[in-house]
Amino acid sequence: MAFLLIMPAILFSQTEKVDLNMIYKIKQEGLKNSAIEELAYGLTDFAGPRLTGSTGSTRGYEWAKKKMEEFGFQNVRIEEARDFNRGGWDNLKAYAAMTAPYYANFACNPVAWTGGTEGLVKGEVLFLDVKSETDLEKYKGKINGKIVMMPSTASYEISYEPLASRYTDEQLKELSKAVQQQGRRAPTGDFATYAAQQTLRNKISEFIRTEGAAVILNSSGTFNVPRSTGARYNAGNPEPIAEINLTVEAHGRMERLIKHNVPVEMEIEIQNKFFASPKIYNVIGEIPGSDKVLKNEVVLLGGHIDSWHGGTGAADNASGCIVMMEALRILKNIDAAPRRTIRVALWGGEEQGLNGSRGYVEKYLVDPKTKEHKPDFDKFAAYFNMDNGSGKYRGIYLQENDMVRPVFEEWLKPFADMGASAIAIRNTGGTDHQSFDAVGLPGFQFIQDEIEYDRGYHTVMDTYERLVMADLKHNAVITASFAYNAAMRDSKLPGKPAMKPRTNVLQNQMAFPMN
Ligand SMILES: [Zn+2]
Repeated sequence: MAFLLIMPAILFSQTEKVDLNMIYKIKQEGLKNSAIEELAYGLTDFAGPRLTGSTGSTRGYEWAKKKMEEFGFQNVRIEEARDFNRGGWDNLKAYAAMTAPYYANFACNPVAWTGGTEGLVKGEVLFLDVKSETDLEKYKGKINGKIVMMPSTASYEISYEPLASRYTDEQLKELSKAVQQQGRRAPTGDFATYAAQQTLRNKISEFIRTEGAAVILNSSGTFNVPRSTGARYNAGNPEPIAEINLTVEAHGRMERLIKHNVPVEMEIEIQNKFFASPKIYNVIGEIPGSDKVLKNEVVLLGGHIDSWHGGTGAADNASGCIVMMEALRILKNIDAAPRRTIRVALWGGEEQGLNGSRGYVEKYLVDPKTKEHKPDFDKFAAYFNMDNGSGKYRGIYLQENDMVRPVFEEWLKPFADMGASAIAIRNTGGTDHQSFDAVGLPGFQFIQDEIEYDRGYHTVMDTYERLVMADLKHNAVITASFAYNAAMRDSKLPGKPAMKPRTNVLQNQMAFPMN
């Protein structure tokens, strides 16, 4: 009986070979001879913020290409991925201060793709106390040339949670449990409230635009630091009114003063530059495969190189980019000769809709119009993505792909004592692996400790300081091992078998009234 129980495990470990010599070398190179710090400095402090279409994004692309060449990667290139409808935008100056009832300077971040002020604008702040569309009536004709303050969307709560956190064993166990994935439903509860708020905010924005305010002030909601956001803007349209995000504290202070009938004055100067629409690019480099046949197959590693403009896009997502670059550097430096080609791709334009990775899929894998597979589709072995901040890998999400579980179980074994052994069947979303998963290719993301991701991403504090170097080294070592294993095994990683398309699910739901 015992023999029978053990049999399948033995059979399995024979099929899923892990070269422990190679894992040893990867760990030595990645943990003792790491380039993570140097890469972290390069893509954050040196390249700076990398908003899609900005001068900074070009600086990021060029830095990454140069670094890949220095590391000896091959076929290094900055490759066009997609057009960009918003166009180029750089912030050149941002200054905001309250000047009455007393002076206080405020941190702020301009909303991307909005215009500037005409020099220094000085004047009383008009608070829009608007809870419904009809409230707008009382401000008709009163807004022109004014500094206008939007109502707060969230109230600030003191937090008793630690600033940064890691998964406990208990939480990882919970995460590993299968959960019934919810189908699409009509929006209810919180979502409905959110949608109503969004509609009202759009109405307010439209009103302010028509009435012609000088500057619009937003609160950063629950963030203590200015958030980075972007306007829905199409290149060639008139420049939207200057708009800045203030901290929740600055916004709250002025809102309370005004509600107590204390007039508030501010001075603000914003200079932004719009320029001709650049493209969205990906930066690509590789170690070519060594096997005569399998070298045509590709194991792909990726993360998005674009960021928001407030900080330097460190956790989101320099961290993912430098881990992928470092993983390939490790393999290169230990003279790994993978059978398949291992390619790293740093995606542009993720924050505006996964543009870089979708552009890559459209170019090489699936025709966007006919949905027909392109020749490289059958040569696509696997994709691994990182875009959940600086936290260390604790395991991997299967993206509902049961077929890879036994494979990943074996691959994670050499890292169990480093804290990475969890396997979660569930989907994880919101970033570039979805571009591959959506067309039936095996695309995955690792489970990462949160650290302080939720507190700082898309804000001015997403900088070098947010990076945990030891965690990034750990991640590069595991990524290098996964990439090597995927490049060496006899067959590609199993994708999900095709299923009959779901019938009528969407139509049925569309028939429901949206509430
Ligand atoms: Zn991201």
